[in-house]
Amino acid sequence: MRLLVVEDEPHMARILKRGLEEEGFAVDVAVDGDEGVWYGSESEYDAIILDVMLPGVDGFEVLSRLREGRRWAPVLMLTARDGLEDRVRGLDRGADDYLTKPFAFAELLARIRALMRRGARERPAVLSVGDLVLDPATRDVRRGDVSIALTAKEFALLEFLMRRSGEVLSKTTLVEHVWDFAFDSESNVVEVYMGYLRNKIDRPFGRESLETLRGAGYRLRDDHARPDPH
Ligand code: CA
Repeated sequence: MRLLVVEDEPHMARILKRGLEEEGFAVDVAVDGDEGVWYGSESEYDAIILDVMLPGVDGFEVLSRLREGRRWAPVLMLTARDGLEDRVRGLDRGADDYLTKPFAFAELLARIRALMRRGARERPAVLSVGDLVLDPATRDVRRGDVSIALTAKEFALLEFLMRRSGEVLSKTTLVEHVWDFAFDSESNVVEVYMGYLRNKIDRPFGRESLETLRGAGYRLRDDHARPDPH
C-alpha cells in the first residue's frame, strides 16, 4: 500500500517515513502544500497523512484541491492539540479522520489501517446535481450563481435527495430519513415540502429537476440530462 505524507517539519517527516516503511508501506514525502497537491494529483495513494500547518498552501487548501481534482484517497489530518477549529474545518472539507500532535505511532498506524479499509470511494464534501450545489458545512445552497435560502427542514430534505440523486425515493423512505420517529407518515407533509422545494430550486429557474413518480415516490435529477421533448 502506498502512502503520501505531507509534512514540512523534516524531523517529523523522517520519523513518519521510516516508521511507515518499517511496516511495509511505500511512502512518498511532500515537504510543502504545493508539492502535496502535485504528488496527490499525479499518483493514486491508498491514504494521505496531511499536516494542517504548512508554509504557503496550507493543509486545508491541499485537501480542497485534491477533492476538487476528484482525488478520493482517505486523508488523515495532523492538527495541533488545541486545534478544534482546524479539525472541524478539515473534516468539513473532506478529511476522513484526524490525529492531534503529539501522537503515538501505534495510533497513527491503527487509524491508517482503518481508513484504508474504507477505500477511496467518491465522497465529495460539497454535493452537486447538475448546477444545483449544496454545502452541508456552510449550509450554502445555490443554482448556478444564484443563492437559495432554505428553512432547516427544506435543507435536510434537499440534502437527502441530493445524496441519493437519480434514485426513486418513496414517501416512507423520505419520512424515515428526514423526519423523526414520532412522525405521522399518513400526513401530507412530504407533498407540502416538495412543493416548497420546487418553488425554490426549480420554478424560478424554469427547471423540473424534482420529479413526482405517481405511486412510487420522488426523484431528484439533473434536468439538463432530460431528453428534449421536441
Ligand atoms: Ca507543520
